[in-house]
Amino acid sequence: MTDKSKYTETQIKQALTYIEIFDREGEIDCGECGYKTCREFAAAMLDGKVKPSQCTVFSKKIIDKFKKKEKELRETLFLSQEILDAVPAPVLYEDLEGKAIGCNRAYEELAGIKRFGIKGKKLSEYSSNPDYDRLNDELNASLLNSRQKQIVETVVKNTFGEHLIIELSKDIFTDRSGEPSGFVSVIFDITERVNIVRELAQAKDKAELSVSLLKKMPTGFVIVDEDLRIIDSNTAFARLMGDDIAEVEEMNPGLKKADLKRVFGQHQLFSSLMQSGEESYSKDIELNGKKIRVSIFTIEKKKTAGALILDLSMPDVKSAEVKRRAQEVIRENLATVQKIAYLLGENASKTENVLSSVIKLLSDDE
Ligand code: SF4
Repeated sequence: MTDKSKYTETQIKQALTYIEIFDREGEIDCGECGYKTCREFAAAMLDGKVKPSQCTVFSKKIIDKFKKKEKELRETLFLSQEILDAVPAPVLYEDLEGKAIGCNRAYEELAGIKRFGIKGKKLSEYSSNPDYDRLNDELNASLLNSRQKQIVETVVKNTFGEHLIIELSKDIFTDRSGEPSGFVSVIFDITERVNIVRELAQAKDKAELSVSLLKKMPTGFVIVDEDLRIIDSNTAFARLMGDDIAEVEEMNPGLKKADLKRVFGQHQLFSSLMQSGEESYSKDIELNGKKIRVSIFTIEKKKTAGALILDLSMPDVKSAEVKRRAQEVIRENLATVQKIAYLLGENASKTENVLSSVIKLLSDDE
């Protein structure tokens, strides 16, 4: 039995607040603690005879709170995993020893293993790529030293044995106090992008070679935009257009940005092809007293067109065989230029997609 009268009202009330009884209504005096009233229990607490957890009502409240928190935590974790699984790029997070804590669905597909199979394991324990494992360890060490995000390009093998060129982006994640808690890796498959860049570089080299050949050949060539402004041309074209134009070309090689309408009387041949959307068109015309063949071709529909202009009075051109060869050159150049235009368009849209993913992931990360 505890004598509660030896404590003041204030002391009893303070003791009651420990077991979350804040007013008279809260004193339910259920007796489950072995004391008749809550006040007697409070006095016993002040005597040091009982602990707050011996109030069954208070204990139940605490357990309910824990259960609620645990439920909330589970829901938050589930939501986090759902968000991670929605990210199309593989994501892996490891502790400071490099042991996997978790990953997303895209990483499971890349590694060919379920997240439960990698938990608590280092990369070397579940992957068969020693070079990549070594790189991962080096990046982890470097991250701990520099605390700077690391981005490297490397090659990995997927579950089908295909080699993928990837961009590995690694950073540290911290605990609530801001101390390093582990590493997060995001992997971007850039195989297609790298191949396109390579293909584009090859096409560009080819194009530059073709342009340099076109510049030197005796046949005139010109490329114009949709407003019939000259993008490029060669000296032979300027000469065919007359002495005045040839003089201008000496000061402005290629006649860049010049208005075709002021250079070539029959410029409407270009406008007609652009408007019709046809691939190519050839016509023999008279120009400055010479008979010439104009072969116009589309480079980018309704946007860019090119032309090869052949002086049919030139001795070499009189031969039918030479004419046939000239046509062949036109066809080959047409195919090359069209391929470049196609590659440029394709590359732009693919690069944009990859960049959008990267920006999204980086902002998620932040
Ligand atoms: S178990 Fe808690 S609520 Fe019930 S009488 Fe004891 S102190 Fe009061």
